[in-house]
Amino acid sequence: MIRYLRNTSLLPYNTFGVEAMASHLFFLQSPGELKEMLDFPGFSQMSDDMCNLLVLGQGSNILFTDDYHGVVVRNEIGGINVTYEDETSVMIEAGSGVVWNDLVEFTVNRGWWGIENLALIPGTAGAAPVQNIGAYGVEAADVITRVNAFHLEKGKWMALDNRECGFGYRDSIFKRELRNKTIIYSVVFRLSKKAQPMLEYSGIREELERMGISDPSGADISAAVASVRRSKLPDPEILGNAGSFFKNPVVSETIYRELSGKYPQLRAHRQGDQYKIPAAWLIEKAGCKGYREGMMGCYEKQPLILVNYGGATGKQILGFSEKIQESVYSLFGIVLEREVNVF
Ligand SMILES: Cc1cc2nc3c(=O)[nH]c(=O)nc-3n(C[C@H](O)[C@H](O)[C@H](O)COP(=O)(O)OP(=O)(O)OC[C@H]3O[C@@H](n4cnc5c(N)ncnc54)[C@H](O)[C@@H]3O)c2cc1C
Repeated sequence: MIRYLRNTSLLPYNTFGVEAMASHLFFLQSPGELKEMLDFPGFSQMSDDMCNLLVLGQGSNILFTDDYHGVVVRNEIGGINVTYEDETSVMIEAGSGVVWNDLVEFTVNRGWWGIENLALIPGTAGAAPVQNIGAYGVEAADVITRVNAFHLEKGKWMALDNRECGFGYRDSIFKRELRNKTIIYSVVFRLSKKAQPMLEYSGIREELERMGISDPSGADISAAVASVRRSKLPDPEILGNAGSFFKNPVVSETIYRELSGKYPQLRAHRQGDQYKIPAAWLIEKAGCKGYREGMMGCYEKQPLILVNYGGATGKQILGFSEKIQESVYSLFGIVLEREVNVF
């Protein structure tokens, strides 16, 4: 029987470590339990006819600013299966509740290539397509071939191929048209059996050298990435946070030229005829790196990350983030867009 709790704290279910109550909390352990949940007595009223329903993975990309007056579904659907294999590639289907880093380990331990650079990103496999997780030059969109979901409003099972997911930089259809409308229950990935190391991104090659490895396996690369990440990023178990709070802004060539004329140290990644500027650099220049206000602050090693030193509320953190947005805007005229989902 599906596990259900009423008026429950969401504190254990979000990495920012903020307090918020959920009126109704369901724990989904298989796609089959979806029907049980939808048939649960009074479900329609609980979710206000699906208008107030939130799917939660590990809550590592979420900021609760209030209690959630509706249904929260904590996704715990497990299982990793090989669905196709040939000499050069393999396809695996991961249950959406599989812990992302467990999936990375599962693949690198078998010598399969594709997601080794995404080691140690917190969260679940089902959330990976939502914001198209990425790190160290790799994005989930590079290897996702299909996302299987249930459309809550239409009551229909659906399968979206890579193109239909509308992937972009930290973006997908699940953050736009399908926001809060679907429950992703599994994700299919195509991985390579042929070595394809991606070492260009800063820090990985140096870390491998430090480890004394010249011809790295996928497992070596994921270990190097994990080590670099541990040295730079706060561990949510110790310091509440949700990773990068803002996206890196993408600006026109004219704006980039103007900025780099004024700030020759500015480094940007070219994307077609636009430029992606490091938000961390903008925040640091605006004087916010390491800035602390009460129980929250801008992490001293990586200013893109806002941290909860303990006891800050979601509303306070949101207000703090708006001050950072204002500081950056008043100096550069650039609006920082949030990466974290605010509820
Ligand atoms: C220390 C730290 C480092 C991080 N580093 C990175 C990084 O390098 N790169 C990166 O991209 N992200 C990073 N993140 C952000 C986060 O890890 C990812 O966004 C992750 O995919 C979120 O997974 P989750 O299961 O916790 O999702 P949640 O936070 O629970 O949910 C995120 C969003 O996805 C939706 N969602 C979740 N599961 C489902 C589902 N099954 N069906 C439908 N919708 C769903 C939720 O409704 C919500 O809108 C970092 C976070 C932390 C705390």
